[in-house]
Amino acid sequence: MGARTLDFIQPELDELREKGLYKNIRTIESAQGAWVQIEGRKVLNFCSNNYLGFAAHQRICRAAKEAIDKYGVGPGAVRTIAGTMSIHQELERELAEFKGVEACLTVQSGFNANLCAIPSLVGRGDTIVSDELNHASIIDGARLSRATIRVYPHNDMEELEKILQEDLEGRVLIITDGVFSMDGDIALLPDIVALARKYGAMTYVDDAHGEGVLGRSGRGIVDHFGLHGQVDVEVGTFSKALGVMGGCIAGSKEVVEYIKQKARPFTFSSALTVPDTAATLEAVRILRESGDLVEKLWDNARIFQAGLKELGFDTGATQTPITPVMIGDARDAAQFSKRLFEEGIFATSIGFPLVPHGKARIRVMLSAAHSREDLDFALEVFAKVGRELNLI
Ligand SMILES: *Cc1c(COP(=O)(O)O)cnc(C)c1O
Repeated sequence: MGARTLDFIQPELDELREKGLYKNIRTIESAQGAWVQIEGRKVLNFCSNNYLGFAAHQRICRAAKEAIDKYGVGPGAVRTIAGTMSIHQELERELAEFKGVEACLTVQSGFNANLCAIPSLVGRGDTIVSDELNHASIIDGARLSRATIRVYPHNDMEELEKILQEDLEGRVLIITDGVFSMDGDIALLPDIVALARKYGAMTYVDDAHGEGVLGRSGRGIVDHFGLHGQVDVEVGTFSKALGVMGGCIAGSKEVVEYIKQKARPFTFSSALTVPDTAATLEAVRILRESGDLVEKLWDNARIFQAGLKELGFDTGATQTPITPVMIGDARDAAQFSKRLFEEGIFATSIGFPLVPHGKARIRVMLSAAHSREDLDFALEVFAKVGRELNLI
């Protein structure tokens, strides 16, 4: 008998629950901030990518409200038909100036930015060379392109060069995350750029966790390494440090114009909403005025990571405010997260398939919104729970 019914669903859901892989999503009853309300309780928020506290920043909220009064909420349609508003162009112009690129295209999310840019640049008969730890949206964009995908071990420049030495098919595009989201380490972008030049490949960095974090006033990984004009495509998101929602594709005028002409999620899906656009624009303006919040974020990261190490925790390979607290077994990590929550800290455990088996961890996301008292409180709780579970 052919399997034509929905009978497969319940057993699969049961199996996910048995393996501890079922996603139970917490409901947040307050704005995103240093502290959030969950099930009526205030807990310290160590989960969000709200690096600079922009998700509920007063000035940014006000800018969104004023834009709604002027432009309404919706973009009307896809931009090629009806949707480009002057506020989209304003954001694209200011973002390009901020990042030090000629041009920038905004799209609906960082995920979509990869689905726009990768299949525009390469197709069947071309080759993508991709870091093994690249984000799921890069993997999906690469699959959608139908190019041949070659994967190199994480940040391994020797292996990358070996692949580039082969007789690769068609155009060659090297793609890397800027900051790797589960470990917090930084791509070796200067080496990648040098190898790309040597072997005639295009370069592409997804700087989702670098924007607002790395470089002068959060200008991102290209600024961090002083590589302006040397990376062909920079993809980014507005949903992390910028605190809002949306994505962007930045580079030379020629590259951005080409992607604008070809990208299907740009041509067939409506534009970023008015409040998202206005809020992101205000976030960029705040960063252009001052790097104080970025410095506060890094101070918090240094203080908290030093405190964890002093207690005897292993924070892995991080070079950024992303702070993995390595635990190992997925069940231990889940228990650690549960105990932290009982003690007033919201920090989710991360296991397979987000990280390899046996490398489960708590990922602490620090923010400029955290105060020194918040960090002291958290270190006390980590010490207590760590000792209780024999992890330190
Ligand atoms: C978070 C992330 C994305 C997705 O961004 P959204 O704007 O949330 O869709 C894409 N790429 C990388 C590397 C990310 O870390």
